[in-house]
Amino acid sequence: MREAAGQMHRYPDGDAFYLKRALAARLGVEPGQILPGNGSNEIIELLGHVFLSPDTGIVAGDRAFVVYRLVAAASRAEVVAVPMPNYTHDLDAMARAVKPSTRIVFIGNPNNPTGTLVGQEAVDRFMANVPDHAVVCFDEAYIDLLPPERRPDVLQYVRAGRNVVVLRTFSKLYGLAGLRIGYAVAPPEAVRLMNRVRQPFNVNAMAMAAALAAMEDHAFVERTRALVREGLETLEGGFARLGLPCVPSAANFVLVEVKRGREVFEALQRRGVVVRPMDGYGLPDHVRITVGTAKENARCLRALREVLADR
Ligand SMILES: *Cc1c(COP(=O)(O)O)cnc(C)c1O
Repeated sequence: MREAAGQMHRYPDGDAFYLKRALAARLGVEPGQILPGNGSNEIIELLGHVFLSPDTGIVAGDRAFVVYRLVAAASRAEVVAVPMPNYTHDLDAMARAVKPSTRIVFIGNPNNPTGTLVGQEAVDRFMANVPDHAVVCFDEAYIDLLPPERRPDVLQYVRAGRNVVVLRTFSKLYGLAGLRIGYAVAPPEAVRLMNRVRQPFNVNAMAMAAALAAMEDHAFVERTRALVREGLETLEGGFARLGLPCVPSAANFVLVEVKRGREVFEALQRRGVVVRPMDGYGLPDHVRITVGTAKENARCLRALREVLADR
């Protein structure tokens, strides 16, 4: 990034040549199957621009990432919200919920804010049953935090020419959230359509330089995975000692049941600890707590203990 800083008077490469080449080689797909975005959130929006309109709809879990719903609303598309037993996507029910008017099925895997993962078997059965007229979007923002054996292989379906879009990001494992860079792996035809509605320089030059460097920074990746794994154990252990039920997480955050979540959110914030209230997700008794450094995790648990003792 320091090297790239000297070139910031120039426009970025609007075709992201080097980044697409590096990602394609890493993932075993063609550069024409990659679409870099200003965060993968931009790509969720591009999917909406390309595929959604008032006579169409999406299928998503009822505790799924809120952006899917927002993008559908922006196009006045219908949202079919499928219940998530045990906070987990029910892929069989989602396949059944697809209608002729459905254009996108969104599957956050792991899902935010629940942290739950659906495995290979459920994914394969879903892919065998879902009608092919709807785009299946696997949003894998957190997938590379998991060890390889826990990650379902969904890229095989893109390679096989299925109507599948996989979203990945440099915001989570690689710690580059402030730069805004993510990407889609998708059929060439879908990439072409999204290229027509995106801005010509949607991804900035600093972000591309950082992403290329980050892909080679294996030591950082290993350190981050370990930090998240240990942090999850600390938090989940701490919640258990406080008698708070939580949803076992495959991501870098935990959904924890504290009762009257907004009150806890506000009281923690007064102590300088910021968590997410979950009433917007229909979970007024929960908050979502993200793993930090060992010191931050300890401070969070301490603050939480005080807040709960106070009420
Ligand atoms: C964080 C996140 C993203 C990606 O965010 P960007 O920073 O825009 O790449 C996408 N989906 C989910 C479910 C997320 O939690």
